[in-house]
Amino acid sequence: MTGIDDLPIRDELRGKTPYGAPQLDVPVRLNTNENPYPLPEALVRRIAERVTEAARTLNRYPDRDAVELRTALAAYLSRTAGHEVGAANVWAANGSNEVLQQLLQTFGGPGRTAIGFEPSYSMHALIARGTGTGWISGPRHEDFRIDVDAARAVIAEQRPDVVFITSPNNPTGTAVEAGTALALYEAAQAAKPSLVVIDEAYGEFSHRPSLLPLIEGRPRLVLCRTMSKAFGAAGLRLGYLAADPAVVDAVQLVRLPYHLSAVTQATALAALEHTDTLLGYVDQLKGERDRLVDELRAAGCEVTDSDANFVQFGRFDDAQAAWRALLEQGVLVRDNGVPGRLRVTAGTPAENDAFLDAVRTLVKEKR
Ligand SMILES: *Cc1c(COP(=O)(O)O)cnc(C)c1O
Repeated sequence: MTGIDDLPIRDELRGKTPYGAPQLDVPVRLNTNENPYPLPEALVRRIAERVTEAARTLNRYPDRDAVELRTALAAYLSRTAGHEVGAANVWAANGSNEVLQQLLQTFGGPGRTAIGFEPSYSMHALIARGTGTGWISGPRHEDFRIDVDAARAVIAEQRPDVVFITSPNNPTGTAVEAGTALALYEAAQAAKPSLVVIDEAYGEFSHRPSLLPLIEGRPRLVLCRTMSKAFGAAGLRLGYLAADPAVVDAVQLVRLPYHLSAVTQATALAALEHTDTLLGYVDQLKGERDRLVDELRAAGCEVTDSDANFVQFGRFDDAQAAWRALLEQGVLVRDNGVPGRLRVTAGTPAENDAFLDAVRTLVKEKR
C-alpha cells in the first residue's frame, strides 16, 4: 500500500499527523469549544431565504471583496467591541484559520518566523508549518499568564516576523490584559517591524473588554475573530480580522480569487441579523462557564480562571487516564497535552451537570 511518505511531500511534513480532536459518538461531547445551542428557528428560516436569493445568481462568481458582509461585520464590531471600524478595516475568510493562513502567507513564509506563547492554540504552529514559517515557542508563567519579561527577552533575541497573542487563550481560558498586549507589541516593534496578531476567537465570552481599540494608530496590529464560537456557527466557516486598511490590502495579495462563496456570505449576513439573540446564548454560556469553575473548585479540582466558553481543570497525575475515565462515563472532554490538565467546553446546563457528576465520581475514586 502506498503511504504518505512514498509520495514526494515536503520534508517538513514527513511523519506529521493532521490536526483534529477525536470525534467520538458519546452522549456528552464537550471537547471542541462549539456552542451547544443550535441556531434559533427564525434564523434558520432567514438563512434559507438569503441562500435562496443567492442561489438565483450562483452562475456568477460571488462578490470577490465581500463588501456587504464586511460592512455588517464592521458594524457588529463597532457596536460590541468598543471601537469604531468600517468595511475597509475588516477582511473575512473561511474560518479564522483561513484568515490566519492568509496572514502567515503574507507576513511569514520561508526564512521568516512566528512566535506564540504556549500552551496555546496549536493551529498557530501548524499553519506556520504549512506556510513554511519557522515556529518559536514562547513562555508562560506557571499560572498560564504570559510571562512578559521572558516574552520581551525572547522577542528581542529571536526577532520574529509575526507574534501571536491569543486572548482569551485556548486551551487555558486566560485573558490577556491590554497592558500586556501593548508591552509585547512594543517589544516586537523594537526588534523589527513585525506583525502582531491578537486571536480573539473567544472575545465575546470574556469578562474583559475587547482588545480591538488597540489597532488605532498601530498598523501592524491585527485582531482576529470568528463566528464559530460565540455565533454558534462553527459549520458556517466564517472568520474575520480587523486592522488598518493596509493589512486588508496586503492579504489580498495571497487570497484565492472568490474564496468566500456566495452561500457563505449570504448565511453569515443572515446570522448577523440575529446578533442579539445569539449574544443572549453567549450570556447563558458565560453563566454556565462560571458555574463550571465554581463547582469544579468545590469538587477539589485545580481550575484556571476562564474568560472563554471552556475551562481548564486538573490536576491529574495522568491526564490521559482521567480523560479515559470521563469517556467511560459518557463524557468527552479534551486532552490538549498540557501536563495534568484537561479542558471542558461549557455545554447546556444538563450536559454540564452530567460532566460534573462524572468528575465527582472520578475524584472520589482517586481518593
Ligand atoms: C476555535 C478557534 C479559532 C477558530 O477557528 P475557525 O477557523 O474560525 O473555526 C481560532 N482561534 C482559536 C484560538 C480558536 O480556539
